Amino acid sequence: MPPFQDHTIVVLPGDGVGPEVTAVACAVLDSIGDFYGHRFTYQEHLIGGAAIDATGEPLPDATRDACRAADAVLLGAVGGPKWDGGKRRPEEGLLAIRKAMGLYANLRPLQVSPVMAHRSPLKKEIVEGVDLIVFRELTGGIYFGEKTRTDTTASDLCVYSVEEIERVARAAFQTARQRRGKVTSVDKANVMETSRLWREVVTRIQAEEYPDITLEHALVDSMAMHLIRKPREYDVILTENMFGDILSDEISVLGGSIGLLPSASLGTEGPGLFEPIHGSAPDIAGQDLANPVGMVLSAALMLRHSLKLEDEADAIEAAVAAVLAAGAVTADLGGELGCRAAGDAICDAIRAIH
Ligand code: ATP
Ligand code: MG
Repeated sequence: MPPFQDHTIVVLPGDGVGPEVTAVACAVLDSIGDFYGHRFTYQEHLIGGAAIDATGEPLPDATRDACRAADAVLLGAVGGPKWDGGKRRPEEGLLAIRKAMGLYANLRPLQVSPVMAHRSPLKKEIVEGVDLIVFRELTGGIYFGEKTRTDTTASDLCVYSVEEIERVARAAFQTARQRRGKVTSVDKANVMETSRLWREVVTRIQAEEYPDITLEHALVDSMAMHLIRKPREYDVILTENMFGDILSDEISVLGGSIGLLPSASLGTEGPGLFEPIHGSAPDIAGQDLANPVGMVLSAALMLRHSLKLEDEADAIEAAVAAVLAAGAVTADLGGELGCRAAGDAICDAIRAIH
């Protein structure tokens, strides 16, 4: 037995189904820790609506400081109708923590298993076997440029620096090396100057640093079409902030249930933030109905990207795949298991694999 290795993980359960799914993720991490000799220490902190209720602030200082000092951060979900129209919004907490942690790349992997393909709105033959990951730039672009407004006009400035493009491009190429070795960079270089800079920088980084990776460029409009016609052709998709926002929502429906999909947000160094792509799901909160898989796969991304525990991440993903294949699933996938029982099934699968 190797000596136990300690990792400090800040857990932000948040609102709605957030506390239910983060509890499952921690149980799954403990099961993995037992087999690989890691001890995960969890520090729970407030964010979102829960934090507004307790402190008046969606991101209390104590939460921000703990996140910055952690090895990694797991987040459930924030928001809900309870805080609609309030002075502070739960979602402010999410934007503030991303900024405070310097997170510049948002990753969303999607692997479509036969169970998921069956529930996809697209034909099974088109989506089964999809295995791709989107890298969305998070700090630049039209979201953060100068905004102006007069009575008759409005403008949003789109700005990118070479450095912002380089760092997210490197992250994407690095990941492509561990996958099938192909990056599709998405832009609108026929119209936008920022996209022409994007294309130049990505092309240079590939030539200078990642000659082993195949790079192709696509225009965002045709990419939107190709993603539903031939999604299996893509491996790593690299794109700027707004195009990434739109394409990741498009991609999220290929796999059937929003409850299955994880995400990671990464900075240059320091901890990453890992959360399912779904929201707080207030309609099913507190009823043990939520699908915990998106959160559990987010914990796997945490192991891979922040803690560099590749085998452990693979083991969680294999356990989830086995459970889905066996049909041990929650109501959103047509199953009968509750959130906790679905989590137990994943822990059992981890024990069975080892
Ligand atoms: P947000 O604004 O936070 O993104 P939203 O209302 O757009 O929230 P969700 O909270 O993700 O979206 O909920 C959308 C739908 O998907 C709801 O019907 C919800 O019950 C369902 N849903 C979301 N997450 C899960 C999950 N983990 N398991 C099962 N169903 C879920
Ligand atoms: Mg939403």
